Amino acid sequence: MPTLADRLDTLSQPGWLANAGEGQSIECYACAHRCRIKPGQRGVCKMRFNREGDLMVPWGYVAAANVDPIEKKPFMHFLPGADALTFGMLGCNFHCDFCQNWVSSQALRDPASEGSGAYIQEISAQELVDYALRAGAQIIASSYNEPLITSEWAIEIFRLARQEGLRSVYVSNGFATPEVLNALQPVLDGYKVDLKCMTDEKYRSVGGRLQVVLDTIKQAHALGMWVEVVTLIIPGFNDSNEELWDSARYLVSVSADIPWHVTSFYPTYKHLEGERTSAEILQRAADIGQEAGLKYVYAGNLPGHVGSLENTYCPNCQTLLIRRTGFSVHENRITNSGGCPQCAESIAGVWH
Ligand code: SF4
Repeated sequence: MPTLADRLDTLSQPGWLANAGEGQSIECYACAHRCRIKPGQRGVCKMRFNREGDLMVPWGYVAAANVDPIEKKPFMHFLPGADALTFGMLGCNFHCDFCQNWVSSQALRDPASEGSGAYIQEISAQELVDYALRAGAQIIASSYNEPLITSEWAIEIFRLARQEGLRSVYVSNGFATPEVLNALQPVLDGYKVDLKCMTDEKYRSVGGRLQVVLDTIKQAHALGMWVEVVTLIIPGFNDSNEELWDSARYLVSVSADIPWHVTSFYPTYKHLEGERTSAEILQRAADIGQEAGLKYVYAGNLPGHVGSLENTYCPNCQTLLIRRTGFSVHENRITNSGGCPQCAESIAGVWH
């Protein structure tokens, strides 16, 4: 009986985010692991592999495709209230024990994920774009697993989507290389980065490096992508005042206009001890973000329990601009020119 790896290997084609190495080896630069892969071997993500000198990459399938509000990604300053056709594949370059999508993301890395093969639906890039258009979505989002490791497939979808007037976004851990960001820039409008913590030691415990993620935030912003940053606040892991200040200060140093989402953790996967993050902890994190100078701080995953932290206010005159509960937009008063109706302050974001 074919294994999940056998099945996935048939759903792949030669990729191009790579340099030739010695002999028939290849250096993949789709993410910052920069795996040097010899013939017959796989990269850290397990999804990209060397077949006789060709780098084979995931292609022609999704493991999930749903139409969701863009607020669910979450993006708060990117076409508020619009629908995003959101697709994911399988696999990841990290191994967070608190992953909320672990069955998909840990495919080929955790034997308990073997059943994720049942999610696979073969589909072409054009069929996916047609699906988005039929559903009335204005955005296509690559999410659920780590998009960077399937960037060739995303670029093909986003190229077709752009021809149809759709926008495209990544929901990513931000473990990118400068080369992959440059390759994405012509077709990628928005980049949501998870900033998981502010110590390199903890980043290494989940399979990444802090500086890479910080550099991705800065580079994606410099490339003109609309960047929003999410920190899943896990009590005892990343909720010290010191660490929250470090996160907020770093974001301000890139741009005070970057929205920062502090979201509530719930026990899952291998991180089953501890409790769900309380509204009080989210409020403390948000207070730090605002005090550090961030203009837009949001609290997520506790709809209706975080007061004004689901809304957007003018940073100049504090007028309520967008009123939300959870993923629902009740009112949007941002002007056609992207400003505050009260004081005309320009509000950073993608509004049309
Ligand atoms: S995308 Fe996969 S193969 Fe490529 S560098 Fe990252 S972990 Fe390695």
